[in-house]
Amino acid sequence: MNVPFADLHAQYLSIKPEVDAAIAEVIRTSAFIRGPFVQKFEAEFAAAVGAQHCISCANGTDSLYIAMHALGVKPGDEVLTTAHSWISTSETISQAGGTPVFCDTDAQTFTIDPAQIEARITSRTVGIVPVHLYGQPADMDAIMAIARKHGLWVIEDCAQAHLARYKGQLVGSFGNAASYSFYPGKNLGAMGDAGAITTNDAALAQRMAMFARHGGINKGDHQIEGVNSRLDGLQAAVLSVKLPHLAAWTRRRQAIAQQYDEMLAHTPGVTRPTCASGREHVYHLYVIRHENRDRLVQHLSTQGIQTVISYPVALPFLPCYSRFAHRPEEFPNAHRNQSHIVSIPIFPEMTAAHVARVVEAIGELPA
Ligand SMILES: *Cc1c(COP(=O)(O)O)cnc(C)c1O
Repeated sequence: MNVPFADLHAQYLSIKPEVDAAIAEVIRTSAFIRGPFVQKFEAEFAAAVGAQHCISCANGTDSLYIAMHALGVKPGDEVLTTAHSWISTSETISQAGGTPVFCDTDAQTFTIDPAQIEARITSRTVGIVPVHLYGQPADMDAIMAIARKHGLWVIEDCAQAHLARYKGQLVGSFGNAASYSFYPGKNLGAMGDAGAITTNDAALAQRMAMFARHGGINKGDHQIEGVNSRLDGLQAAVLSVKLPHLAAWTRRRQAIAQQYDEMLAHTPGVTRPTCASGREHVYHLYVIRHENRDRLVQHLSTQGIQTVISYPVALPFLPCYSRFAHRPEEFPNAHRNQSHIVSIPIFPEMTAAHVARVVEAIGELPA
């Protein structure tokens, strides 16, 4: 039996009549750009994540850039972020005019290590971008305490963590703003690119909305030069259909993760993901560590089981950051993990037979 890494078509089939009707309605009303579908989704998403303001935009990368721009990042400013994430997290710091300063990850959770944040603060530090990596919240109590002590802003990168909670509180509600991606494969995914920023700060919301819309809230009234970053009506309508299902899909991801946890407990060579106490993981990815990662990936591939490595090169070691000349010893956890991690299939529509087959195939790896 083949097991795909994710199955977006299965998800579509499970809600096909609703999705088809929503798309037809956008086409019927030609509400392609902004308009009622976008407004409706912004209000629904704000409510779902407990935020006062939601500004939709073209993708998750833009949501980080727009938030940083609106927070006033300028040349010379240093922004602290995690050493292990998707490139969007750090490239947008540079795009906004700042300098990314990487902090190693925590050995157990793979999220940013607060002790490393504290160690890298300088007089030029302006903010922190923690990532709720793979769906597990970063250590927000420690991060917010550091931010308050040093007067730094915080943007939570929630691209992988829709509806995750830290000590019962929804992620995205700790920092000044939160960025979301609705890339098709994310826990809440559109049928194309889509993103959003949430905040409880009305003035910041206004600046972000203005910047994302060519620098003007009202058409023709350009207060500043901005960018064009819009969620379109078709994506908004699809997201409105999917949002009410997100909680159930998340529970399904968590149930699959629990099955994996139990079934992989005694598999030689495998280290299961660790979720720190008080953190509710939403398992965008189920990431194991394996002593022979590359052989495992190869074996699973020959068995028709798809895997992904997120991410095979930690941010400081990417060619685009060679100017910093970072050394492995500066980020020992991220450096070790990059060659041992692998994400095995997890998606809400996955069956018990799929899970059993993945576990069985991992156990088959010849010694
Ligand atoms: C997906 C992702 C993004 C960017 O989202 P896009 O919609 O693909 O631009 C940013 N940060 C993280 C951690 C992501 O996983």
